[in-house]
Amino acid sequence: MTTRKQSAGDIIEARCTKCREVLNHRIVAMVEEKVVRVECNTCKGVHNYYPPPPVKEAKIPRKPAGSKTRATSASPRAAKRDPLEVEREEWASISPTFDHEKAVPYDMNTRFPVRRLVLHTLFGIGIVRAVIVPNKMQVLFKDGIKLLRCSCM
Ligand SMILES: [Zn+2]
Repeated sequence: MTTRKQSAGDIIEARCTKCREVLNHRIVAMVEEKVVRVECNTCKGVHNYYPPPPVKEAKIPRKPAGSKTRATSASPRAAKRDPLEVEREEWASISPTFDHEKAVPYDMNTRFPVRRLVLHTLFGIGIVRAVIVPNKMQVLFKDGIKLLRCSCM
């Protein structure tokens, strides 16, 4: 509450309806002690007096600084996987389906179609993954893919 007497012509702070800001206004009309109309010094608009909003010690609580910090610990996409590891996993996942009865003992003079089970004296049981002309085949063994000679053509 201001105790100072105001009168028409005084400059006071008021909210301007056009500028939408608290600006200096000149008092145009008063009713008893109250300012009723003012003229904006900025836009020269005359309008009813709206007192400036009470000045708050606006202490807007700041959001915790860390709230938006993304967890950067998430492992970057597993770097290149060891292909041998992948092959071993693949073997482990498909080997239970192997019908050992149908495995053909490896012989470089035998023809092995893709998906044929191969029984190798050194590598154990494997499955033909691909045939690479003219006479080599990729066989997936427990220890990864081996390139074996074969009589494919
Ligand atoms: Zn104004």
